[in-house]
Amino acid sequence: MKRVGTGRGQRPVVSRRDFINGVGVAVGGSFLPPGLAAALAANEMSGYYPPIRTGMRGSHDGAYEVAHALRDGVTFGVPQERDDVYDLIVVGGGISGLSAAYFYRKQVDPNARILIIDNHDDFGGHAKRNEFWHDGKMYLRNGGTLNVEAPSQYSTVAAGLLWELGIDRTRYYRAIQSVQDRYKDLGMAFGVFFDQKTHGANKIVSGLGARPAAEFFAETPMSEKARTDAVRLFTEARDYLPGQTPNEKRAKLIRMSYYDFVTGVAECEPEVATLFNPEVNSLFGTGVDAIPAIYGYEMGFAGFSGMDLPEIPPGLLVNEPGGQHGRENAARAGSGDPDLYFPDGNATITRLLVGSLVPGSMSASTMEEIVTAKADYSQLDRGENRVRIRLNSTAIHVANTNASEVAVTYVQNGEPFRVRGRASVLACWNAVIPHICPELPEKQKVALGDGVKAPIVYTSVLLSNWRAFVDAKVNYIAAPGGFHSTLSLSTPLVMGDYRTSASPDEPIVLGMGRYPCKPGLSRRDQHRAGRTELLTTSFETFEREIRGQLHDMFAPHGLDVDRDILGITVNRWPHGYTYSYNPLFDPIEWAFSTSEERPNVIGRQRYRRIAIANADAAASPHTDAAINEAYRAVGELASVI
Ligand SMILES: Cc1cc2nc3c(=O)[nH]c(=O)nc-3n(C[C@H](O)[C@H](O)[C@H](O)COP(=O)(O)OP(=O)(O)OC[C@H]3O[C@@H](n4cnc5c(N)ncnc54)[C@H](O)[C@@H]3O)c2cc1C
Repeated sequence: MKRVGTGRGQRPVVSRRDFINGVGVAVGGSFLPPGLAAALAANEMSGYYPPIRTGMRGSHDGAYEVAHALRDGVTFGVPQERDDVYDLIVVGGGISGLSAAYFYRKQVDPNARILIIDNHDDFGGHAKRNEFWHDGKMYLRNGGTLNVEAPSQYSTVAAGLLWELGIDRTRYYRAIQSVQDRYKDLGMAFGVFFDQKTHGANKIVSGLGARPAAEFFAETPMSEKARTDAVRLFTEARDYLPGQTPNEKRAKLIRMSYYDFVTGVAECEPEVATLFNPEVNSLFGTGVDAIPAIYGYEMGFAGFSGMDLPEIPPGLLVNEPGGQHGRENAARAGSGDPDLYFPDGNATITRLLVGSLVPGSMSASTMEEIVTAKADYSQLDRGENRVRIRLNSTAIHVANTNASEVAVTYVQNGEPFRVRGRASVLACWNAVIPHICPELPEKQKVALGDGVKAPIVYTSVLLSNWRAFVDAKVNYIAAPGGFHSTLSLSTPLVMGDYRTSASPDEPIVLGMGRYPCKPGLSRRDQHRAGRTELLTTSFETFEREIRGQLHDMFAPHGLDVDRDILGITVNRWPHGYTYSYNPLFDPIEWAFSTSEERPNVIGRQRYRRIAIANADAAASPHTDAAINEAYRAVGELASVI
């Protein structure tokens, strides 16, 4: 839903937007802080340090135009030959591509010469780092991939990689122990923002799930009937499908949306169903109309406590390969070690990977020190290194040229270049592969085009303080009618020299999530519609909406958006979460089995010396999936080279 700002959003957000070596960067205060000066000095040669760039990031301008032109039939001329023959050329510098390079060196040849090509100006794919500086201090946030989710369910391969990179879960949990209850200790909890347009009043109500439902809903501006319905749904153990066996009920809930369950079967007002939209948005990129009711049950949503539903049989895809965004048995998903949140999200993993691949690129190699480590981008693509990472380069053609060689053509600064290698891993998105690798069998190309990635926006807002959040007693907020539908203060952390804001008077980075979609359409069409909307929404519109929404939510609690917003980075991901199968729109066996007929399996087959990695190959939007697929792809190549 589009909301009109309050008129307070017209001023530029950044108090002083400096340009340092051609980089637009938000710096509060009048001097260059020593840490940032050091980071920039490390990149003196190239003057290049993308994590501090603000404004429209994620799929930034300049990153996607070549790929779109290729899709539209544009040709790029005769490429120049570059470099000696590599052992491996990886397309895609996300977690999967970087892991593929790591596994190749480990399992095939420790001295292998590897080139990794990525279209963005920074490495990491979705796992990007947003770095703000204010009054000499660094404030971090994830620009995409947030956490290591359900780590106990990681495969030996994925958990092993994290361990080898120095991510020690025991040390991590010990480090955060003293701060993890910071918000709770201040009386803060999960809350819901009810907006004026939908409910007739702007109001944050704190404590859904943390206090009696009747007390929570009594404070909301929902209609009287909706409040009564909600209390019933949340508290009564009622069987909404009486007279049916547990298996019959399950079969019904697999084919029915959670929206239809709540409004049709449980006969609640639509306002009650849409309360769950923000959480479903953040997990699937759509609302409750596009997920089956059974996922709601598995995620512990309201309405099922009296339904006597059967346990999910063990061995199904639901528990493979990690947290499955709702396809999990809730009890099992919650078991094992808790999720890991690093201050810059899973950019910590990509920075550790890059450090291990490219000598001199990172000034530290431990989980704690990497957080504040300097990254030297001038080291990434040097001829003397065995692994090179070439940014701002879009692959446009990948081919087996003879029985022992592949060639990859890419465009950098508008110029086409060609490199040769003994093999290639395509760790880019499935939808791109048929366009860059036309020699693949037709059936495989169709399968690669089957899934549609969910568009997502993660916005990072640097605030001068978070007193208004303490006043409203919330640290995580669902805003069902908001332009951004989820808001969360940075997870309290101490990691090496870095610690998140300890006092409400200190600056903090607020994360806001927007998930453009179009309820009523099929899930794939919702994602397509959202993507179009995203690519046509300017940063200025985002800025206006962000300021308007934060004013509406927090002005009553003391926030002044003109005074308190110090910087904004909008991480736009038109091709975000991998498409995961869903029995409302896909065959049941795709969603609930490891069938070889699933398009992701057909699509990921090796073709001579070209293997396919990336999270899409697993049909699972998760870090461990991206790592597992890299390992499989490298293993497939090892058998033919
Ligand atoms: C906003 C967001 C939040 C997420 N949060 C989590 C989370 O908290 N936990 C979790 O486990 N997972 C999360 N995910 C899922 C995430 O996608 C995976 O965790 C993982 O990072 C995917 O890695 P990948 O390498 O397969 O893909 P990507 O990270 O997308 O990397 C692929 C790279 O290939 C590049 N590429 C594509 N085509 C070309 C081309 N032709 N030439 C050159 N380069 C190309 C892409 O631009 C991209 O940089 C999130 C995803 C998004 C979008």
